[in-house]
Amino acid sequence: MERFDLVVIGAGAAGLTAAKTAADMGARVALADRGPLGGLCINRGCLPKKALVTAGRVHRLVRESAGFLTAPGAAQLDWDAVIRRQNEVVDLLRPSAADLEKRGIRVMIGVARFTDPHIVEVDGTPLAAERFVIAAGSEARIPEVPGRELLITSDHLLFLPVFPPSLTFLGAGPVALELAGAFADFGSRVTVLARDAEILPGVDPDVARYLRKSMETRGITFRLHTTVTRLTASGDEVRVEFDSAGMANTMTSTRVCAAVGRRFHPRSIGAARIGLEIGRLGLRTTPYLATSVPHIYAAGDAAGNRQLTTVAAYEGRIAAVNALRGDTERADETVIPQVLHTTPEVGVVGMPYGNAPAHGVHPAVARHDARGSSNSVATGEDSGYFKLVFDQDTERLVGAQMVSPAAAELIQLCALAIRSRVPASLVARQLSVHPSHVERLIRAFGPEPHSSARPLEGVGIVEPRP
Ligand SMILES: Cc1cc2nc3c(=O)[nH]c(=O)nc-3n(C[C@H](O)[C@H](O)[C@H](O)COP(=O)(O)OP(=O)(O)OC[C@H]3O[C@@H](n4cnc5c(N)ncnc54)[C@H](O)[C@@H]3O)c2cc1C
Repeated sequence: MERFDLVVIGAGAAGLTAAKTAADMGARVALADRGPLGGLCINRGCLPKKALVTAGRVHRLVRESAGFLTAPGAAQLDWDAVIRRQNEVVDLLRPSAADLEKRGIRVMIGVARFTDPHIVEVDGTPLAAERFVIAAGSEARIPEVPGRELLITSDHLLFLPVFPPSLTFLGAGPVALELAGAFADFGSRVTVLARDAEILPGVDPDVARYLRKSMETRGITFRLHTTVTRLTASGDEVRVEFDSAGMANTMTSTRVCAAVGRRFHPRSIGAARIGLEIGRLGLRTTPYLATSVPHIYAAGDAAGNRQLTTVAAYEGRIAAVNALRGDTERADETVIPQVLHTTPEVGVVGMPYGNAPAHGVHPAVARHDARGSSNSVATGEDSGYFKLVFDQDTERLVGAQMVSPAAAELIQLCALAIRSRVPASLVARQLSVHPSHVERLIRAFGPEPHSSARPLEGVGIVEPRP
């Protein structure tokens, strides 16, 4: 039987980073994946999604080009070309086993399962190791509702062979909203059925409401407070029965996509056989990413923390280092910039206002309406709302939530401001590029001095303490 210092299960962002880190540390490392290499982000997640969102935006821009005094072109949708590009993007980005082998990583393609706490079998081939990192990702949850076999997930929607004239999403989280936006841009009639009173659970309600209103103006219908009760086939369509605010309703659409979250599947790796404990979304882990079996670590979606590629790669490195060197590094997940690739985009980082006092922070909130800037007028992208949370005692930013056409880039500046603990007034004094979206964000950090209870006289308000 082959023996390794470290065996990593899963070649997504977490597993690839763990294996490369271990190889760079001089360890003998094997990486097992049932294929394809690259995991969710590259094959069925962030990247094909970003490609689809971009294609949708281009399609809408051409359709609406009359606003720029350009005669609208033939904005005819060539769906086969869209899907062809989806596949090309994935093929270009997928890592190759040969490159990994060149770095000294032994790549095994096959389903990996623990047969013993120190042995993993990959399609029947046993591999023994001192340490393991489980980076086996997550799978989409399918709601327990009659007719659930009629549902598809984002895995299918990103590569759908036939364009759906109408589409319904169950769920109003990031994946549902990003894909809802993309398909609406292509001309689908899109409905989002949300269980809660507002979309985007966990995101600031002002920001969520702002995004919903923006998406409504782009033709997307939201039904809030709904519970789906049954799905049935109706010719070429799917009929959805749901309760909305106590009333029974039905609607039909070409496709219905379940986007109600993802979780790690312990059975895929034989977790029960070796006594691995399971938490809410993934394996139960310590702050050092050790599982309940001390020589086995977990990273990424399998570790059940924030389901983001950024986090997966970060945890992959820490899990490999701790597995090989002992628990030396804790995972610090307090400042994770996150973005929704909707139109406009949503950016979130750091502490929401409501959590501040629990962390000993005396919060003040600045709300900044970014519409009407000279940049917005020139580009026609007139949307934007920043909600910044400051610590009144230190004059530092501790959290930011925003809607902006450029939130994916702007939120990184807020992450830097939080991490570097720079006074808000110093950020406000920076010269900013003109014309740009960042100008208004820099302004939202002022005026000086920024230590008072009213950080933004006129445009900002201070919320009562939570
Ligand atoms: C539609 C969509 C869009 C997203 N967009 C973004 C985004 O824009 N930004 C962002 O940060 N995050 C995004 N995410 C989340 C992000 O993709 C995941 O959090 C991230 O990819 C998780 O990485 P991972 O390495 O933990 O798991 P994965 O990438 O899922 O890798 C797990 C690997 O394990 C393998 N595996 C599983 N079980 C076994 C087994 N028993 N044997 C062998 N191999 C096995 C799988 O084949 C897979 O390759 C998105 C997710 C979705 C669904």
